[in-house]
Amino acid sequence: MAHQWQGVLREYADRLDVTEATPIVTLGEGGTPLIPAPALSRRTGADVYVKFEGMNPTGSFKDRGMTMAISKAIEHGAKAVICASTGNTSASAAAYAAHAGIQAVVLVPEGKIALGKLSQAIAHNAELLQVQGTFDDCLDIARELSANYPVHLVNSVNNDRIEGQKTAAFEVVEVLGDAPDFQFIPVGNAGNYTAYTRGYTEELERGITTKLPRMFGFQAAGSAPIVLGHPVKDPETVASAIRIGNPASWELALAARDATNGYFGAIDDESILDAHRILSAEVGIFVEPASAISVAGLLERSEAGVIPAGSKVVLTVTGHGLKDPQWALRVAGGGEVTPTVVPVDTAQIAGVLGLSPSGAA
Ligand SMILES: *Cc1c(COP(=O)(O)O)cnc(C)c1O
Repeated sequence: MAHQWQGVLREYADRLDVTEATPIVTLGEGGTPLIPAPALSRRTGADVYVKFEGMNPTGSFKDRGMTMAISKAIEHGAKAVICASTGNTSASAAAYAAHAGIQAVVLVPEGKIALGKLSQAIAHNAELLQVQGTFDDCLDIARELSANYPVHLVNSVNNDRIEGQKTAAFEVVEVLGDAPDFQFIPVGNAGNYTAYTRGYTEELERGITTKLPRMFGFQAAGSAPIVLGHPVKDPETVASAIRIGNPASWELALAARDATNGYFGAIDDESILDAHRILSAEVGIFVEPASAISVAGLLERSEAGVIPAGSKVVLTVTGHGLKDPQWALRVAGGGEVTPTVVPVDTAQIAGVLGLSPSGAA
């Protein structure tokens, strides 16, 4: 029988706190492609690969952490889970809770969630509340509720999430045969930045790899607390998945940066959307805006002369473009794309396309 990928808990059971007592709740997450990106290699002189996390079951890397968090929650007897979310955590928690037959409660900032993600959470039957505040307010309330009521917190402040997410680094190493020189990653709460660093560090300790990658994390300029060195009260950016003003894993992320000779940078929204266009049009990978910041970060750092020619570079793109597709219709500078309308007439359409008949020499 053909091998089917078993999800990260079974594939990496020896590397995670999974025992006979753990009921494995999986939708087959992980095993995502690491795609060579010749167009980005040509632009930068580096050897660039894209880890396409939009290929996970709910369309983001959150599934790697959620399979672990929900499985452990149930092992500990939870009947309901709660999370704050900029969108993808809610979609993932809702799907895994539905699969396990438990209730998911989701707190999201009112009016700030991409339609695709909201639709997923509702479809998977989460109890979804729009809070009249920011993501950071939602997380504070979710923490208080989980401390005082019988609901289990599945945000990335829950270490099970980080544990599940570290498996992405294992997959990169399996494909490349060693750690890359640079790992680029979008940063919101910095949980994933922390998780990749942990995964790569474990590989080095096991003697599988020869080095740690330099961990390069990027925040949107309007939402860049780690870069600024202080919380941002009203974060604003088109990259809604990383619109976070007070990252939960801030301290862990600074430690990870220092341990890997890493870097945190900020990228403005226009550059994020430019990178989104390049990744879509030149590499063929469709992501949500937050994910494109990995590409924007590489282009900016390459321009700054920090990426030596021939470096092995992995860009993690965190979420699928279909979750928040409207940005693809925006052209550079602000206008909207309106596809040309044509009559039902082959000759006229050929004319519009600038085609001449093949027979005509
Ligand atoms: C959650 C998320 C992020 C940010 O990850 P953190 O672990 O919060 O830093 C980035 N991109 C997408 C698409 C996300 O859903």
